[in-house]
Amino acid sequence: MTRFHWTCESTDGAARAGTLHTAHGPVSTPTFMPVGTVGTVKAMTMDAVRSTGAGIVLGNTYHLMLRPGAERVRALGGLHRFMDWPGPILTDSGGFQVMSLGALRKLDQDGVTFRSHIDGSEHRLTPESSTDIQHALDATITMCFDECPALPAPPEAIAASMRLSMRWAARSREAYVQREGYGQFGIVQGGTEPELRAESVKALTDVGFEGYAIGGLAVGEGQALMFSTLEATTPLMPQDKPRYLMGVGTPDDLLGGVMRGVDMFDCVMPTRAGRTARAYTERGTLNLRNARHATDSRPISPHCDCLACTRHSRAYLHHLFRANEILGPMLLTWHNIAYYQRLMRQMREAITTGTLQTLADTLRAGWQASDWTDDEMPQPAIPLAP
Ligand SMILES: [Zn+2]
Repeated sequence: MTRFHWTCESTDGAARAGTLHTAHGPVSTPTFMPVGTVGTVKAMTMDAVRSTGAGIVLGNTYHLMLRPGAERVRALGGLHRFMDWPGPILTDSGGFQVMSLGALRKLDQDGVTFRSHIDGSEHRLTPESSTDIQHALDATITMCFDECPALPAPPEAIAASMRLSMRWAARSREAYVQREGYGQFGIVQGGTEPELRAESVKALTDVGFEGYAIGGLAVGEGQALMFSTLEATTPLMPQDKPRYLMGVGTPDDLLGGVMRGVDMFDCVMPTRAGRTARAYTERGTLNLRNARHATDSRPISPHCDCLACTRHSRAYLHHLFRANEILGPMLLTWHNIAYYQRLMRQMREAITTGTLQTLADTLRAGWQASDWTDDEMPQPAIPLAP
């Protein structure tokens, strides 16, 4: 069996390229984890997710405990078997969703009582029960149960919330059952206050986890404050453990995160955008509903090997979204996940060759630029299948 650990293979400034070794196979980092909230990456088959090069996906404790229930997933062979993803799975602890989705929530020092957003039934999550549920789901990476304060909040409230989360992290660790190749991550909290972040890192490293996440960012503070908080936080985190920035972000956020020493990311942006006709590309974003795409025979991107780009025109995708056809979200989600994975591969390669700054300049210039010219596009745009 494989011991759960992370090996660093190259660094470029603060950026790190490495491999996460797990019971469910290795993952090259930096990595982006597509979000599979309820046991599915929305609108994607698992073969399609695999084809993009994704190495690890996310599941969600809050959603899965309510439906279909953790014990049912366990009885059906665990989440890997249930959703047909033999690779590593990280499960969110449910803390964030209880705060954002659960109705009539009641927070106390022991945990949170809330009503299901599906049927109004009452449930309770504690550090212990969240950890047990993630065990029942067979999550490769278990997250600590934490409290996520609504922002903006005064510094005293952020501090009190962070300290509660640190007590809960110690209890999550107590409840965690060590298994070969599996790991548990602590979550650094403390808003945008460097002293609180430092206190949180210290509390978590005193307990000791297989990896460390940075939570409570990308909640409306803006990119500059997120980056400065990362700069104050990642240097304090253990060098030999993976670092995961939760819920981030845009391609530019991922680039900035990697350059500040982050190894793992997750975000609903590429999947959600795919369902609303928004495509991420090397030349910024496209809205496929826009009338200018109605007669455009070119692919979304000349550099993408996804099914949407190799077989279909922008005009066809535009038509699918205008006609509300389900294939539109399927193809565009595929494209967006493929773009995010290509971006992560480019960053990994650039770290290995010491050229991350050059890549960053090229990427940023591309995102600012307008669309590709006809000279840069393949002609004919989309060849017919034989
Ligand atoms: Zn594509």
